[in-house]
Amino acid sequence: MLKVKSLHKTYQGPDGSFHAVRGVSFEIPQGGFFTLLGPSGCGKTTTLRCIAGLEDADGGSITIGEQLVADPTNGVHMPAFRRNIGMVFQSYAIWPHMDVFSNVAYPLRVARPRPSHDEIETSVMEALKLVGMESLAKRSATKLSGGQQQRIAFARALVRQPQLLLLDEPLSNLDAKLREQMRFELQELVARTGVTTLYVTHDQAEALAMSDQVAVMSGGQIVQSGDPRAVYERPQDAQVADFLGIANFMPGRISALGDSKSLSVKLDGSIGVLRLPDLNSFAPETAVRVVFRPEDVVMRTAAADDTVEGRIERINFQGTVSECHVRAGETLVRMLIHPSVRVQRGDQIWLAVDPTRCVVFPAESVALR
Ligand code: ATP
Repeated sequence: MLKVKSLHKTYQGPDGSFHAVRGVSFEIPQGGFFTLLGPSGCGKTTTLRCIAGLEDADGGSITIGEQLVADPTNGVHMPAFRRNIGMVFQSYAIWPHMDVFSNVAYPLRVARPRPSHDEIETSVMEALKLVGMESLAKRSATKLSGGQQQRIAFARALVRQPQLLLLDEPLSNLDAKLREQMRFELQELVARTGVTTLYVTHDQAEALAMSDQVAVMSGGQIVQSGDPRAVYERPQDAQVADFLGIANFMPGRISALGDSKSLSVKLDGSIGVLRLPDLNSFAPETAVRVVFRPEDVVMRTAAADDTVEGRIERINFQGTVSECHVRAGETLVRMLIHPSVRVQRGDQIWLAVDPTRCVVFPAESVALR
């Protein structure tokens, strides 16, 4: 439904030019939910605005359905209003001087050819029903909660039954609880309408929970894409791992190469070795960083041949779990423990990392923290 090929966009400013999008390519099949995930400034919004037709791309091409809508090299730029796209932004952009009905009806009233009065009435009420807001059609838009405004923005984006729904951080103005609820509602809505969706966010939990496919962006490029679970479990480099919130980067050294299926890493400070699947062909003695999440390390009270010695520096009680900071050599390891575990600051403990949940990167690619 959407094909983006080698998209480039450069902004010209008083300080010169800035290459915001550098050869971005991806495809979304009919009914797919695809997310561009990345830190602020990585080019997500610019990519989305080029697809919407709100920015002119400098290079590459964009095809929606069968229609080529942008191909600057060949002079193709279909104006935004002719692309059948629904959009929701972080700010909702609900018009305060209109009631709920008129806000949702707006895209139909400006459409050419303009639908009849009855068609508008039917489509608006259907869209309001989709988001559970049909009883509030006559309410002034200023008298709505944040969640209700968000639902109106979704209804307005869907009222013309767009081929493509573009969502730019649509939940980030909501408080944590409402945000989670709206995340479920949005998933339901997209599933019910079957609309092809491109979602832009810097929130990895949102991206992993909602998407069929996720693409991690950095510096105007897609650095890794795929199924959310695969990207989460097998980040291809330290930058992606860091962005996905993998908190622990432990120094180690390749101590011996076994058969081609496994690799031994000696963690600095451990008395034994960690046997890991061979992801890269590291040479013996290569300095590496072993990367793992707080939930993939456990605490032991005695040394074993796969443990790393450490001392507890801090315990943060978080309700159902406590987060523990353990000093192991140069590294501060973050791990989760059950609050009932009787340990305290200063205790000597031994860490055991689950080798099946680790990823190994060359040391020079990861800064220690
Ligand atoms: P955010 O999540 O903060 O919106 P983003 O990943 O969506 O970030 P973009 O908004 O696409 O990033 O911006 C990418 C880069 O392009 C940024 O460095 C930004 O400062 C720059 N940029 C965006 N719009 C313009 C513009 N109109 N003129 C000049 N530079 C711009």
